[in-house]
Amino acid sequence: MNLNELQKLDELLEQFRSMKLHGSGRLGAALKKPLLVLLLVSRIENNRVEENRFHFDEIEKQLERLIREHGGRPTKSGPRPEQPFSHLRSSPFWILNSQREYESGTTALVSDLRDPNSYGAFQPKVYQLLRSSSDARARVVDSILQEWWPETLHGDIREDLGLDRLDSQRRRQRDRQFTIDVLENFRYSCAFCGFHAVLNGQATGIDAAHVQWHAYRGPDDVANGISLCKLHHWAFDKGILGVMDGKRICIADVFVAQSDGGLPLESLKDHTFAVEPRNNAIAEQFLDWHRNNVYLGAA
Ligand SMILES: [Zn+2]
Repeated sequence: MNLNELQKLDELLEQFRSMKLHGSGRLGAALKKPLLVLLLVSRIENNRVEENRFHFDEIEKQLERLIREHGGRPTKSGPRPEQPFSHLRSSPFWILNSQREYESGTTALVSDLRDPNSYGAFQPKVYQLLRSSSDARARVVDSILQEWWPETLHGDIREDLGLDRLDSQRRRQRDRQFTIDVLENFRYSCAFCGFHAVLNGQATGIDAAHVQWHAYRGPDDVANGISLCKLHHWAFDKGILGVMDGKRICIADVFVAQSDGGLPLESLKDHTFAVEPRNNAIAEQFLDWHRNNVYLGAA
């Protein structure tokens, strides 16, 4: 990329980061726009786009599935992929060409969006940049993932979208002190299963997880941290595992294990923590947030 393109890219990343998300504050609704942008970039990356015209009916089903899969706890109204497709027009990088005129803030009719003459498009310079530079695409994907999802879920989302190869290796610098405090608080063990292992003198295979996601203003505070092994960290971020009454582990009904293969998760059902925090309990407000926004079972 030349200097001009780099400046354009920085501007664009800022526009993506400041996408106005759905006002309800619910994760499921809020993540629709970022999922749509990731899907559009993945179509460019995987050579499925011939020109700067994205027809709703070509991506509708996939977007709906992405919202179900990665959009957090489902909302009552369902995935409604037409919402992000319409409302992205409030951002300067997206143009919606529909057959009717809509006032700002209203969702376009699905029948209108499915009309062969309707389409969405990136602002031409944005399209040019995304089309011509795989580095630009990599940075956009990184930036969006880091802004809205915890790192444990990035691999799943990338894989789902065929974006595995696009990884510019830029990681958010996390507060190291948070990691140390949380791991010490749980004796370098998984709070759920007690997993504790040392490799070359160092605790291994465990993470300091944010209960309220970092991307959702969850603070780097030990009261918002839980030490978990890799599997249980993933299941907690995915919403398969949750915590009730401060320390009872629950598992979402929608999770279905294949034969005994699900035992590492299912055996936790209704157990209390294998390792209790040493000094600082997890604050109830963060567990509340997780139950209401991430956990897939009855909250
Ligand atoms: Zn564990």
